Amino acid sequence: MDYLVEIIALTIDSVCLVGYYVNYLKTKNSITLIENSPVLEINKNLPKIVNKQPGQIIPYVAIRGTVQPIGDPIISNNNLKVAGVLQLLTIKEHIIQRGATGYWSEHEKVIQTVQNVMPFVIESHGYNVEVVDALSADILDLDVISNVFTPTVPKLVDHIWGFFTGFRQRGVQTTEEMLRKGTVITGIGELIISEDKGGVRLQPPRDGSPFYLTNMSITSLLKKLDEQQRTYRLFCILFGTIGIVVGGLIIRRYLRNRSQWMESERKKKERESIRKERRRRVRGDELSDSQLCVVCKVNPKEVILLPCGHVCLCEDCSEEITDLCPICREVIDKQTAAYLS
Ligand SMILES: [Zn+2]
Ligand SMILES: [Zn+2]
Repeated sequence: MDYLVEIIALTIDSVCLVGYYVNYLKTKNSITLIENSPVLEINKNLPKIVNKQPGQIIPYVAIRGTVQPIGDPIISNNNLKVAGVLQLLTIKEHIIQRGATGYWSEHEKVIQTVQNVMPFVIESHGYNVEVVDALSADILDLDVISNVFTPTVPKLVDHIWGFFTGFRQRGVQTTEEMLRKGTVITGIGELIISEDKGGVRLQPPRDGSPFYLTNMSITSLLKKLDEQQRTYRLFCILFGTIGIVVGGLIIRRYLRNRSQWMESERKKKERESIRKERRRRVRGDELSDSQLCVVCKVNPKEVILLPCGHVCLCEDCSEEITDLCPICREVIDKQTAAYLS
């Protein structure tokens, strides 16, 4: 294919552009949503406010308060003094791998994740809001309680094994993250009256708007999202420009090929018209059988075949017959115009 490289480049570029543009729009939309969402105090009036809403739901709202467990909190595996409501354990393997180029490069691979969640509330002024489905939050800020890297001590056999397989373990990293009891967080999502207990619940919005549980204030969250939005916009401009350049190159090459093709067509037509003109002049005096091309029997003989020297073909037929002379079967080395007078 003629434009394969350009088309592959353009396709990859378009995929990146669309990806960044979608993220840009999403972030922009999130910023607008947060800016327009009410910030409500958690107090004794909150259930009444929610109750008054149609369907007893406020679709998007921000609240702020302290994380408190409902029941006994989860105790950290690495620090008995740390208690929380949500625990995330990740075990990652660090490996060194020999790539196709022969160089060794480092990679990380998540081997296992363990999530522990317990019911919890956001509390303020002695009143609280239960948080549901915290793990599905788009931003969930956790504290790193422990982050330990245990290097693998390679034995001789491991070195040999690694040499042949191109794969060597460097060590294992274990990370523990928690949403601690007592952390002040901002929750942004859907507020609804809980059917069973009559209290208020914060949950992921049903319309797919982002759900946030963050230790940032609303201003900091907006600032962070704004930075993200700028980054996405920058990438959009970058990939958009690359797309325009590649597209321009494709168009330029296409136009150049077309003008070359048109030029060669023009020359061919010119040659044909010259030939026709010559034939018309020759026809003026009636052509005898011996003056006609031996193949088509229509046009005059116009070409001499070398080295045999036979003048037996018209120019049209000489373009088709290029290997053997039709009279003596000698290999054709060269064809030249012949002028019979
Ligand atoms: Zn002919
Ligand atoms: Zn011949």
